[in-house]
Amino acid sequence: MPYVSDTIAKLKRSSPAELEFYQAVEEVLTSLRPLLDKDTKYKKHNIVERMVEPERQIFFRVPWIDDKGHVQVNKAYRIEYNSAIGPYKGGLRFHPSVYSGIIKFLGFEQIFKNALTGLAIGGGKGGSDFDPKGKSDNEVMRFCQSFMNELYRHIGPTTDVPAGDIGVGGREIGYMFGQYKRLTGNYDGVLTGKKLNWGGSLGRTEATGYGAVYFAQNMLQARGQSLEGKTCTVSGAGNVAIYTIQKLYQLGAKPVTCSDSRGMIYDERGIDLALLKQLKEVESVSLEKYLEHHHDAVYTAASAYPAGRNHVWSVPCQAAFPSATQNELNEADADVLLNNGCICISEGANMPSTPEAVEKFLKAGICYGPGKAANAGGVATSQLEMAQNASMQQWTFEEVDAKLQGIMYGIFTRASETAAEFGHPSNLVLGANIAGFRKVADAMIDQGVV
Ligand code: NAP
Repeated sequence: MPYVSDTIAKLKRSSPAELEFYQAVEEVLTSLRPLLDKDTKYKKHNIVERMVEPERQIFFRVPWIDDKGHVQVNKAYRIEYNSAIGPYKGGLRFHPSVYSGIIKFLGFEQIFKNALTGLAIGGGKGGSDFDPKGKSDNEVMRFCQSFMNELYRHIGPTTDVPAGDIGVGGREIGYMFGQYKRLTGNYDGVLTGKKLNWGGSLGRTEATGYGAVYFAQNMLQARGQSLEGKTCTVSGAGNVAIYTIQKLYQLGAKPVTCSDSRGMIYDERGIDLALLKQLKEVESVSLEKYLEHHHDAVYTAASAYPAGRNHVWSVPCQAAFPSATQNELNEADADVLLNNGCICISEGANMPSTPEAVEKFLKAGICYGPGKAANAGGVATSQLEMAQNASMQQWTFEEVDAKLQGIMYGIFTRASETAAEFGHPSNLVLGANIAGFRKVADAMIDQGVV
């Protein structure tokens, strides 16, 4: 369809060298073809070309002083992508790999993810190439305060509400919230992922991982199966991975792997969750330390992974949960997973599977939950945090968890019913993209050319 290919070609000219962004756009636009063929109003209003262009892109510098008294400078971004159905909502990522292409891919994905939740939240994303690893608390605080010195003028509880992502957890959110409050004098729900004693929501920490497992459970239940008794592989050892592992245990599954950027652990008896939390949430050390407590577990350094592969996916499993980062599961990994009998992939991370890997999963007809559907539990619970802040209430963990389960079921239903409507009942990539797009696109048409 020339409309889609022309839009992609134009985008590559106007936004040069943003590879992850092109990847995300191509995946979405390709799967929109059946809708765009069927309903010409989207082309008439030029919705696709409008939607791939962010409403606003804020690029700024963050100067800060390290513990040695040296002045450091980082690049920072907030991409306010689409506000057709609600205030911009999406996390902040602090990682040395961050550049405009990463933030734009994440922001673009966020539009559809947020629409899929059924909640009134638009899409946005931000971050910086600042690396919190190896920095003292004071350095992280000075960086976060300087970051907020610029960001505060662009955000607000009904305009743009950032949250955490890779490298941004409760500590960073705390420092940014403190500075926002100092600059504006307002105590409002302008950031989510806050700690419980100052406006956070019970269940937010667990939400993305729990949600990805609920999504897997929904996919399997639709085929008369469950997670109980299944061996599962999980990548990552951060927020999403830890609470994926926790929920898998609660549902009677056995998660046997976790990983960080330096290597992976395979523990045949099941990952020791308490130890993992201690190593990553308390001590912030390498996973290699796991071996000091479990001599029979296997640690493989990333440098020893088979060439061009992520070794986590070599471990035989029935269900896999990529929960670290983008493009961490490629075509060769997909082949190994499928050959080993994996029947379910639920993506906790954003765009963890390459397009070739996704193609393999779809062709094999296994349960495949793309990130924008499977990991939407995090942003959905952020919206529940906003609702609690706005009404000055605090709900119980059980209330939040029950709402999360309902939201994940709703996302699964919307994606699978839309997939069926377009003749591909098990293709949740197509279903999620079309369902998310249609909601936002119809709102854009209603609101005119703005
Ligand atoms: P996190 O707590 O910072 O943990 C990230 C984990 O992934 C760490 O174990 C990290 O290892 C590993 N990792 C990061 N970059 C890597 C790389 N290039 N290669 C190998 N491992 C890498 O972050 P998170 O919040 O769990 O986020 C993980 C993924 O979930 C991201 O794709 C994020 O966008 C997505 N997500 C998160 C949420 C949320 O609520 N947090 C919601 C939706 C989606 P090191 O510590 O060694 O770097």
